[in-house]
Amino acid sequence: MVRTRFAPSPTGYLHLGGARTALFSWAYARKHGGKFILRIEDTDRERSTEVSTQAILDAMDWLGLDYDEGPFYQMKRLARYAEIAEQLVRDGKAYYCYASRDELEAMREAQRARGEKPRYDGRWRPENARGRTPPAGVEPVIRFRNPEEGEVVMDDLVKGTVIVANTELDDLVIVRADGVPTYNFGVVVDDLDMDITHVIRGDDHVNNTPRQINIFKALGAALPKFAHVPMILGADGERLSKRHGAVSVMQYFDDGYLPEAMLNYLARLGWSHGDDEVFSKEQMVEWFELDHISRSAARFDPQKLLWLNAHYLKASDDARLADLARPFLDKDGCDLSRGPALGPIAGLLKERVSTIGELADAAVYFYRRLHPSAELRAQHYTAESLAALGTLAGTLKGAEWNKAAISAAMKAAAEAHGLKMPKVAMPLRVMVTGSSQTPSIDAILELLGRDETLQRMKEELSQAAG
Ligand code: GLU
Repeated sequence: MVRTRFAPSPTGYLHLGGARTALFSWAYARKHGGKFILRIEDTDRERSTEVSTQAILDAMDWLGLDYDEGPFYQMKRLARYAEIAEQLVRDGKAYYCYASRDELEAMREAQRARGEKPRYDGRWRPENARGRTPPAGVEPVIRFRNPEEGEVVMDDLVKGTVIVANTELDDLVIVRADGVPTYNFGVVVDDLDMDITHVIRGDDHVNNTPRQINIFKALGAALPKFAHVPMILGADGERLSKRHGAVSVMQYFDDGYLPEAMLNYLARLGWSHGDDEVFSKEQMVEWFELDHISRSAARFDPQKLLWLNAHYLKASDDARLADLARPFLDKDGCDLSRGPALGPIAGLLKERVSTIGELADAAVYFYRRLHPSAELRAQHYTAESLAALGTLAGTLKGAEWNKAAISAAMKAAAEAHGLKMPKVAMPLRVMVTGSSQTPSIDAILELLGRDETLQRMKEELSQAAG
């Protein structure tokens, strides 16, 4: 059975690259009816925080990347790493190293002075340490005894075959003096214990993989398959950073993006299914294959994400959009209990906006009076228009309250004053919404309601007259 995992380090928010790795791992498991496991690699004790862990869980949740097992926390598995490390020591495949930091620094310094590449020289390998007593009071680390000869062959599902000579690898620390495993060791023990069949991760780990393969082999274990996914770059080809737009996935939630847009966009970053740009999560699962992952870095295009978001907004039902927009409007000081229902308003506005944030901004005037600027008033409140609006206010009092009747009343007022429709519609729009750019005004008035409409018209008309 296919078993994949996502193994973030909780040292910050979940960024786009991490979310995409999670998505690919999730999709591969789902496609093959397998299991998807979440593992929190919290062994960097200085940089790992609970806030980051929560941010990662929230982001997974928001994106709907459900996991079948976990979250497992590495810091809760220290006894297990110790057990396996001791087993390796017993088997002669790892050993205790008592070298101090200063001593190692001096060793590297001397190597550099000789023009050599700095690497651990094996001074505590059992055959070299024979007869030497470990220094008192020093807690040793455990080092993996990397084979001296031969090469490591990594068959990567994205990158193809990568070969590294063992002479390039030195004896890495697998357990630190405080009993915490290093990344390369924890990851192997966990991938084994969790029966991971496919390791899908960012290609920033490609150099770690040969070391991990040697540890798998030392444990007599079969290798999982590896797929290293290329990085995400900004449109300018630089490493993705704040400068290219938000890098935290949850920032997109805060800005009013929909998870399906985010998923669709992330899926297309470095993976493709023909020319398809818009597809659902289900379609992605159906189509997902690791061999469609591109070998070159993907470029992040915020405009395309925005375009997809606009697409999914239009396709969303109004009640859902209303639920999503509500917190934005609350924050904006709108009292939603006192205005018209938000659902139909969302339905009207969704055609014109790209994010929930924009939708909420565009809905404010339904709940709060937004007064037009002096410029807008001066531009649209001409004497003839104001006269027509006076007439209109009168007819609206008794008109039926729907779009068609409102539109007919506007037309009649315009005709009665010998004006073209826009000479009535524009100042009316400005009066009621404070803005000259809104959806069609009859639709707005219908939703705003008669009393509020007439109240706003009355205030503006008397202010203009005064
Ligand atoms: N914890 C590692 C990271 O966040 C990922 C490890 C892996 O996927 O093997 O970069």
